[in-house]
Amino acid sequence: MRNVLLHICCGVCASWPIEKIQEDGYGVQGIFYNPNIHPQEEYEKRLEATRDVTDTLGIKRIAGPYDREEWLVKVKGLENEPEGGGRCLVCFRMRLEYVSRKAVEWGFDYFATTLSVSPHKDTAKINEIGASVNPDKFLAYDFKKMDGFKKAMHFSKQYNLFRQNYCGCIFSLKREKK
Ligand code: SF4
Repeated sequence: MRNVLLHICCGVCASWPIEKIQEDGYGVQGIFYNPNIHPQEEYEKRLEATRDVTDTLGIKRIAGPYDREEWLVKVKGLENEPEGGGRCLVCFRMRLEYVSRKAVEWGFDYFATTLSVSPHKDTAKINEIGASVNPDKFLAYDFKKMDGFKKAMHFSKQYNLFRQNYCGCIFSLKREKK
């Protein structure tokens, strides 16, 4: 069986992508790598929800480092970009580059990301970045399809998972509070 290292952005978004990739005949392992999330308390909550989902669905997962400072350096100058703008493209790329490196290092056939579940995120851009990071290993999905977001929300309610109310970074949090 071919194996996929799945980047998990949060617990809420993880369930349907895991199930879909398994339905497609792959083995799946999750990796939580999200140095964009602020504050640390929120990071811990999303990581905990990711643990809940992966345990419930019976897959392995690991957490990457919380490279908060490195993320802030990468998005410097893009603080005022709207959600979906240039800062988000840098944010997607940083996370996918890390997961791609780990997929190669650990011998996975492919890597993928849960990011496209969210109706607020541009699937075409995510997939373009994934393919540019490593065209041989990136498995492009549009998890919004087939009511993916609805399915993920249903699962999160069923298992009472933590559900965030902003995208993740300090800049999206400030905008939410305005
Ligand atoms: S709004 Fe979301 S995707 Fe965009 S930079 Fe912030 S955390 Fe990343």
